[in-house]
Amino acid sequence: MRRAEIVAVGSELLTPFRTDTNSLWLTEQLNELGLEVQAKSVAGDQLDLLAGVLQSALERCELVMTTGGLGPTLDDLTRDAVATVAGVELELWPDVLENLRARFAARGYEMPTNNERQAWLPRGASILPNPSGTAPGFILELGGKRLVVLPGPPRELKPMFSEHVRPLLGSSGEVLVRRVLKVNGLGESALDERIAPFYRHLDNPSTTILFTEYDIEIHLTARASSREQAETLLAGLAEPMAEKLGKRVYSSLGESLPQVLARQLKARGVRLASFESTGGARIADRMMALEEGPLVYAGGLVAPCPASLEQAATMADEARSRFGSELAVSTSVNGQEVFLGLAGPNGVETRTVSLLGNRELVAARASQSALDWLRLVYLA
Ligand code: ATP
Repeated sequence: MRRAEIVAVGSELLTPFRTDTNSLWLTEQLNELGLEVQAKSVAGDQLDLLAGVLQSALERCELVMTTGGLGPTLDDLTRDAVATVAGVELELWPDVLENLRARFAARGYEMPTNNERQAWLPRGASILPNPSGTAPGFILELGGKRLVVLPGPPRELKPMFSEHVRPLLGSSGEVLVRRVLKVNGLGESALDERIAPFYRHLDNPSTTILFTEYDIEIHLTARASSREQAETLLAGLAEPMAEKLGKRVYSSLGESLPQVLARQLKARGVRLASFESTGGARIADRMMALEEGPLVYAGGLVAPCPASLEQAATMADEARSRFGSELAVSTSVNGQEVFLGLAGPNGVETRTVSLLGNRELVAARASQSALDWLRLVYLA
């Protein structure tokens, strides 16, 4: 299997305010082509540091991809770092400069002198056009190693990769295919106890268990010479796991719980309403964010209410009658204790669950518990 590394460039990616999502997206793309990402780095905007990170990535593998640091300002240093590592000069590419000028002119602006920097590229580079932005990307071949330099903004990086880089990478004759099982209502050790016998002695597919804000994800990754073969390997592991976990698995295709519910509500021609107290309009937000949201979600109330079983029943009932829906859920939270209400054809039911985590996490998981209870009672 061919191996790659990714370097995300930008000091802002080292702060809590901006997350490097480019490398996640690129990893998925490279995996589909049978390339394994063996390491990734985030490097701040410092020339020596960046050159060092690139140098060591190139020593370890045959393909290195960078994102970011191609802008017009002085702290955009990827071009300079690449030139340093390759031992070549930056030179002015007249065509690129002309393109940049034309891009500004088309909008009625004169190009700021700063942007000229973006037309200075390492000698020997192959240009990757950027129809969505100013900075062109480029590829540099370095003695059997390949360095692919892409812009930072995701809406520029994605089309550039898909249109100009992906076709060049070809396929290695192997593919990596992933399948995600989504599970609710089980703790870490209870889950592992049930599924470990299936995956313990298996390294293809490999199994990773991830805890997310809402629940647990089981990631299975298969490596094979074709997608079909990988899918067969995945099914061979995913099916017995899903069977063992029963209704706890709400999706074997990586969907979110609101997505699954929307599908099920739509199929049954019924709508859901909610009443949430403490933690904001989480159910409302998650349902309305879906494309089918307005079809299957009737409306939500948010108001502070005392956390009790009796109140949970009143809240669910009120949401249902206020929005005229067939189904309604309610949540209220007191510390770790969550009170849930469910109104539907069986009448109004209530229950409590005890959830771990800080206030934010408990509120997120309370919304998940309410939705999952609804699924188990009326939709599964
Ligand atoms: P520009 O011409 O826009 O300056 P650039 O290649 O220099 O392009 P950066 O300046 O490094 O890109 O980043 C521009 C914006 O792109 C950042 O503010 C951020 O929003 C986004 N971005 C950069 N790197 C990443 C990343 N690794 N993951 C997600 N978003 C990113």
